[in-house]
This record gives sequence, structure tokens and C-alpha cells, in this order.
Amino acid sequence: MTENTERIKCLILGSGPAGLTAAIYTSRADLKPVLYEGLQPGGQLTITTDVENFPGYPDGVNGTEMMEQFKRQAERFGTDIRWGLATSADLSQRPFKVIIDEEKTIIADIIIIATGSSAQWLNIESERRLNGFGVSACAICDGFFYRGLDVAVVGGGDTAAEEATYLSKICRKVHMIVRRDVLRASKAMQQRVFDTPNIEIHFNHVTKEILGEKTVNGVLMTNVKTGEDVKLDISGFFVAIGHKPNTDIFEGQLELDENGYIITKPGSTQTSVEGVFAAGDVQDHVFMQAITAAGSGCMAAIEAERSL
Ligand code: NDP
Repeated sequence: MTENTERIKCLILGSGPAGLTAAIYTSRADLKPVLYEGLQPGGQLTITTDVENFPGYPDGVNGTEMMEQFKRQAERFGTDIRWGLATSADLSQRPFKVIIDEEKTIIADIIIIATGSSAQWLNIESERRLNGFGVSACAICDGFFYRGLDVAVVGGGDTAAEEATYLSKICRKVHMIVRRDVLRASKAMQQRVFDTPNIEIHFNHVTKEILGEKTVNGVLMTNVKTGEDVKLDISGFFVAIGHKPNTDIFEGQLELDENGYIITKPGSTQTSVEGVFAAGDVQDHVFMQAITAAGSGCMAAIEAERSL
């Protein structure tokens, strides 16, 4: 075994509620887990607003703070938490082989995949060109830059509604660009949007182009009913149209659904490969909540322990 190869019992990929809950349980069960945090330490909750629906926090809790507490709890029982990203994997034989940051090899008996999902983009040229220069997928991270200005949020789900509501407190006006004539967001979130006077919803509109040379100064949208183009003057453009599971390195090795989510056995976190478990948003496009992710992280840890 070379210096850059390490043999371990249990490898956890991802540091959101699923990964860290799996870490708490596997470390308490003495599986000596090693956890790699991935691209976004703490996962998606670190870029959300206050979490008000995680039981045990009657007054709500900041997402980043909550994930720091998860991490502290996992470390308390000895989880070895490391900065690093799994860049390839070989699940064809056991023990499994995972390469971290293209250089370190981890050989593990058990893998718990909790790599979550990432924001989707519209995939238009101006979005790519102006990303970071007025185009963002995170209102909490970037809203501050548009204080007192006009912005647009594209999407009609809970994320878009939440981002628009958040931005409405900072910005002068928030335009929501919604491709259908209804919002997909939950009734409660919809009501919050409707009740906010400085949010204007543009139903039946799609984004044609984000305008601006070096920074965003407008958006051109098309009315899908009339075909008419409408220009809005804005300084920030927020994309909130859903997520893509982080499963690229497992393609062809694990059974995935048509959208790339890992398929697990019903009522279990067992993937199509024995000894590989999946928890959290990487295998769940229905609930996608911190509490359900944490619950499935716990299931993965218990199933992992029983499988050894
Ligand atoms: P969703 O998939 O629920 O919604 C995506 C939205 O973007 C839909 O309105 C969809 O339109 C629209 N959309 C998708 N692709 C495009 C496109 N190319 N152009 C324009 N519009 C597009 O994703 P969310 O991220 O909003 O939510 C994901 C999950 O997380 C949901 O289950 C949600 O309930 C949950 N969530 C819960 C929160 C909370 O409880 N506080 C906060 C945030 C999310 P269409 O409707 O036409 O498909």
C-alpha cells in the first residue's frame, strides 16, 4: 500500500445533515468513519435562510450554525472529518476504492454516499458569461450586493419563493419569472409571496437573455402565450429552478434513475451494490428536507453497521 493509500472501514461522502448524521451513528458504533466534506462543507443548509422546521429549535436556527453543531457532534464521537472531494470511484469489487482530489486513494469496506444535489442552471450563454457578475443561485450569499436595487428570480418552486421573499427585504423590487401560470411552491410560501408588495410575478414568461456586458443590467423574457419579448431593468438575476444530484462519479456503477438520483431499495438506504448506502438528497427528490436527510443518514449508518 503506497503512502497515498489508506485502508479504512467506513467512508462517508458529504457533510450535510445526511452525511453528518451517518457520521454520528457510525462513530458511536465504532466504525471509525472518515468523512470527506465535498465541495460545499455543511451542504445546502449553509446557503439557506433560518431553518424553522427542524424539530428541537423552537425559535429557528441559522443553517450554517446548525451544521456546525452537527459537525461538532460527529467529531465528539471521533469522526475523522476532512476537507476533500471524491473525484472517482471503483465500486466493482469490495473493498471499494475512492479517489479523493484526484490523488489520495481510500480503500473502504463500506461507503455511505451523502453527496446531495446542486443548483440547476438555465444553460444560456449570458447566464454562464455573467455568473458571479450579477447572476447567482444563492440569494443569501449574494443578495447583499443588490441592496436597494431591482432584481429578478427565475423559478416558481419553494426555493424561488423563499429567495424572492428574502430578497424583497433587501431590494427595492423583486421580479419573479415563472414559466407556467401557477407557482409550484407550497401554499404557505405562495401566500408569503402574494402578500409581499414589492414582489411582482410574471407568469407565463421564460428567460430569453440576461443583458449586460460586464455586469447584469437587465433581462429579456418572452411571454410564452403571446410570443412577445419584455425587457426588465435589473441588477441581479437569481436562478432557483431546482437541483441536480451529485452522482456523476457513480454513473454506470450504481443504479440511478432517469434524473441521476441513486435508487435505493424501498424502506432502506441500500443501493444496487452491496456495502454501498445512499442517504439524503442524493437519493431523494421528493422530500428533500434536513430532517428527512438526517433520518436517512441514521438509517444508512445502522444498515452499514449491520452489514459488516
Ligand atoms: P422545484 O423542482 O420544486 O421547483 C423548480 C421550479 O423551477 C418550478 O417552478 C419549475 O417550473 C421551475 N423551472 C424548472 N426548470 C426551469 C427552467 N428551465 N426555466 C424556468 N423555470 C424552470 O425546486 P425547488 O428548488 O424550488 O424545491 C426543491 C424541493 O425543496 C421541493 O420539494 C421544495 O418543497 C423543497 N424546499 C422546501 C423549502 C422549505 O420548506 N422551506 C425551501 C426550499 C425548497 P415548473 O413548476 O413549471 O416545473
